[in-house]
Amino acid sequence: MDYILGVESTAHTFSVSVMSSSGKILSDSRNVFKAPEGSGIHPFEASQSHIRAAARVLKEAVEESGVPLDSMAAVSYSMGPGLGPCLRVGAVVARTLASSLELPLVPVNHAVGHIELGCLLTKAKDPIVLLVSGGHTMVISFSGGRWRVLGESLDLTLGQLLDQFGRHAGLASPCGRAIEEAARLSDRYLRLPYSVKGNDVSFSGLLTASKSLLDEGASFGDVAFSIQETAFAMVAEVTERALAFTGKKEVLVVGGVAANRRLDGMMDSMAKRHSARVGVAPIGYSGDCGAQIAWTGWLAHRSGIRVPVEGGAVRQSWRLDSVDIPWRD
Ligand code: AMP
Ligand code: MG
Repeated sequence: MDYILGVESTAHTFSVSVMSSSGKILSDSRNVFKAPEGSGIHPFEASQSHIRAAARVLKEAVEESGVPLDSMAAVSYSMGPGLGPCLRVGAVVARTLASSLELPLVPVNHAVGHIELGCLLTKAKDPIVLLVSGGHTMVISFSGGRWRVLGESLDLTLGQLLDQFGRHAGLASPCGRAIEEAARLSDRYLRLPYSVKGNDVSFSGLLTASKSLLDEGASFGDVAFSIQETAFAMVAEVTERALAFTGKKEVLVVGGVAANRRLDGMMDSMAKRHSARVGVAPIGYSGDCGAQIAWTGWLAHRSGIRVPVEGGAVRQSWRLDSVDIPWRD
């Protein structure tokens, strides 16, 4: 059995995980930076939080796994995309480990990490993927050696839509779970703009209209319900089109917003019409975590992917459809 260590640090979460080559998560320790109420993630402040937490999180992950550091086969890290100051903390930790332990350093694309961990945990083989998080809103399908983007948001991500709406209501980011809880108590749909363009979506008009409804005195629960119904129907529509177009029979929902039960319910009823199966990453592993990097790092390592320690830089913008995936056919 081989073991690999993965370091995640693209945004709010600093996490280290140790996984076995059989796909078992032996540990996944995390520290999540919390922004003050009403404000978003400040990249520099998040990176300072990562620096303070790094040693503790690393120690916890290694101890809990029971695998000594010098028994790892490789060290993997999120090379991007993400916030520069945050990415650099993870890269420094991973480079230091790889060079002191004389291990291969394996770069991982964070979005590919969400998908590959989702496939592992839901046993999806060749799904249409809906990746909905703070950093991404994409409908993705594997073809010709790469994950291909069939549709995406033209402006805000679904996570940003929910977080910016929540912050306008005075909540602290991330706001998705509080919005879900408030929405569950309402069934009053207030009309909001629905914007699907081809196979892409746009959320900025929806955000503006939702904020205005709040400002005009509508209840938070009713607007929370309405924003979810509208935004989730939009991503369900573009996912449905991708499913119908490719004829695939599996849908995988990954990213932090995958934790939302209403979204999962909508995806389920959509997929049923196509006799497709929906897999949703388990709540603890739908958002950012070291395991997504450790597992994808293992797949990449097995395919011979590595960078020299001095080349272990970061890529703030690194689209997943530019990444070759030699481990899939
Ligand atoms: P990630 O970038 O993958 O860690 O995802 C973070 C995003 O997921 C944030 O925008 C959160 O508000 C959102 N999120 C987390 N839990 C939920 C939930 N239950 N419903 C909707 N969005 C959620
Ligand atoms: Mg993410």
